Amino acid sequence: MGFAICVQCGSQKEAALEQCRLCGFDPSNSDDDEVKSVYLSVGRFACDDAEVQQAYREELQVIAGRIQSGKSVDYDAQELDRLRVQKEMVESVPAMAVWGAVFRLFLPALIFLAILGLVNVLLKIALR
Ligand SMILES: [Zn+2]
Repeated sequence: MGFAICVQCGSQKEAALEQCRLCGFDPSNSDDDEVKSVYLSVGRFACDDAEVQQAYREELQVIAGRIQSGKSVDYDAQELDRLRVQKEMVESVPAMAVWGAVFRLFLPALIFLAILGLVNVLLKIALR
């Protein structure tokens, strides 16, 4: 199960990128907010190690308390960079895969059309 906290108000939510039900904060409006939201979720760690996630969950609850009392979060700049790179990779890979699949899907049709066009031209020449 997911566990994340709102970047803005510190309230608990299930997924890093979902809109906060309490303050309405929506991380998907900015890349920066998205990265910070992933930072403040157990999804920050790619591994499914329950112990690591449990430990970070407790840390997140402390951070949530800080946000709720109006203090700012000390984001680790290197960790934010790492998450940003990870996010860019995740976003670029499916796009490439989709275009590859589209290309493979339409390639036979393109070859077929090319042959039709060629036959058409040859027929015109032959019938002259
Ligand atoms: Zn919120």
